[in-house]
Amino acid sequence: MVFVMAISENNKSQTAPPSHFIRNIIIEDLESGKYDGRVQTRFPPEPNGYLHIGHAKAICLNFGLAEEFDGLCNLRFDDTNPLKEEQEYIDSIIEDIHWLGFDWKDRLYFASDYFDQLYEYAVKLIKKGEAYVDDLTSDQIREYRGTLTKPGKNSPYRDRPVQENLDLFERMRKGEFPDGLKVLRAKIDMAASNINMRDPVMYRILHAAHHRTGDKWCIYPMYDWAHGQSDSIERITHSLCTLEFEDHRPLYDWFVEQLEIYAPRQIEFARLNLNYTIMSKRKLLRLVKEGYVSGWDDPRMPTLSGMRRRGYTPESIRDFSDRIGVAKANSTVDIALLEHCLREDLNRRAPRAMGVMNPLKVIIDNYPDGKSEEMEAVNNPEDPSMGTRTIPFSKVLYIEKDDFREDPPRKYFRLAPGREVRLRYGYFITCVDVVKDESGEIIKLHCTYDPETKGGNAPDGRKVKATIHWVSAEHAIKAEARLYDRLFTKENPEDLEEGEDFTINLNPNSLEMLTCYAEPSLRDMSPGSRFQFERIGYFCVDKDSSKDNLIFNRIVTLRDTWARMEKAQQKTN
Ligand code: ATP
Ligand code: MG
Repeated sequence: MVFVMAISENNKSQTAPPSHFIRNIIIEDLESGKYDGRVQTRFPPEPNGYLHIGHAKAICLNFGLAEEFDGLCNLRFDDTNPLKEEQEYIDSIIEDIHWLGFDWKDRLYFASDYFDQLYEYAVKLIKKGEAYVDDLTSDQIREYRGTLTKPGKNSPYRDRPVQENLDLFERMRKGEFPDGLKVLRAKIDMAASNINMRDPVMYRILHAAHHRTGDKWCIYPMYDWAHGQSDSIERITHSLCTLEFEDHRPLYDWFVEQLEIYAPRQIEFARLNLNYTIMSKRKLLRLVKEGYVSGWDDPRMPTLSGMRRRGYTPESIRDFSDRIGVAKANSTVDIALLEHCLREDLNRRAPRAMGVMNPLKVIIDNYPDGKSEEMEAVNNPEDPSMGTRTIPFSKVLYIEKDDFREDPPRKYFRLAPGREVRLRYGYFITCVDVVKDESGEIIKLHCTYDPETKGGNAPDGRKVKATIHWVSAEHAIKAEARLYDRLFTKENPEDLEEGEDFTINLNPNSLEMLTCYAEPSLRDMSPGSRFQFERIGYFCVDKDSSKDNLIFNRIVTLRDTWARMEKAQQKTN
């Protein structure tokens, strides 16, 4: 049978996803009464780009665990860098997290809300003799820092008296010095084996307006100084972050210890990597700025706004996050798994429709001129409660070019000269003639139909081996179909020869545009609606679509490579 259906939903396990080490730590902490039985997490984006599928993992983890343990999850923007941050990013991040289905209620915070408190904390460290104002240039600071194998050396300004440090720090804040002339540093250990502990910079001078605090500040806290204290101020219990912060944990611990303030517990996990995908915000920004894609929400982008426009459901992304689990070691997840989660969800929920991508005209010779009929069609074979609809049938139809072969190879059971096939929800038809143009290209077929086979079955019990889709030429609506493929051709787009840029791995065929012919019921679908074109794929009405100019984005094809791989594996086991 040629009719390709997405894999059935029935085999999806109903059990909870397997536990992971972070959940186990939280359970232990709850049992031992740490943090008075509270669970409070946070998602802390820097508002310097759009969220992507990797962030979704962190969002699902933080909000998901809080939900699971009756805790709270804050949304906090770590907005310490006025040069790269914009309101546009804040708005998009808020929209994306809500779309995923999470809410922080009244707990929307900004690190910039804590600038006064952070300043007070810094003064406290200076008074304790644990921070100093340094006059070295940034190049000198780098030089003095040493390397992994070589200890650093002390700055000549390291032993400034407390009073002088207090005075200089205050004058830094007042704007008496130009950018870069001085910094405030923690006084820890220039010989520490962990480079993060070699007197890290806490404040820099930057005469720049901040999107929230305006011109109030001309010194800004470094991320490493702001992040841990922000967690502490919010009384976060479990501060979950990605592995690259493991080496920063001793520093964060040192700060809260010296300040004698509440100490959250930081736990690191592996970030999500997906094949055929890049997740660096800097590189995604380049794709946008250099016009390789139409914007942050281009449906080929791994951003949540792109995936939303493409037609991904939030449920499928949450399901994916559950299934990939949480680990302590970096790895790369196959994008086929993400697509599998998507198909499973869409298979369950998306209504079916018929549409032809590459039309070939079919004339039913023995069907009366001018007649049309309404054929009844099932909206979703997976869900009878979704009901039925009617599709108009008439003498002239379009079928898919690919569903006809003049010289059918073995095992090709679709339409061919003299052969009978079933039209989905229609009649059996037999091809009686092939019409070509001067160049030899097939331009139309003549067929006959059997009036006894309405709905798809022959009263005499005769069988056909294939069922194909169709639309009535007179009734079909035209739409622009945007067929998306992977944005990169290489599994690891960042695997490059020397001197190569990752953009050389962009897939030149990642977007194909066609005019398609669809059944009329799709005319009234609003932007964002999803449906399945039977035998072709899942589609979503684009946000720029209108009644006069319909645009359908292909979300994903029907072929589920993940399900196949799983089956193959089961066989070998
Ligand atoms: P940047 O390089 O700008 O810091 P970032 O991807 O870390 O980029 P953030 O805004 O700092 O961006 O990320 C917010 C949170 O999302 C952080 O806690 C970060 O650890 C987490 N996160 C970012 N990328 C991933 C990923 N690929 N997988 C899982 N979590 C991620
Ligand atoms: Mg970050």
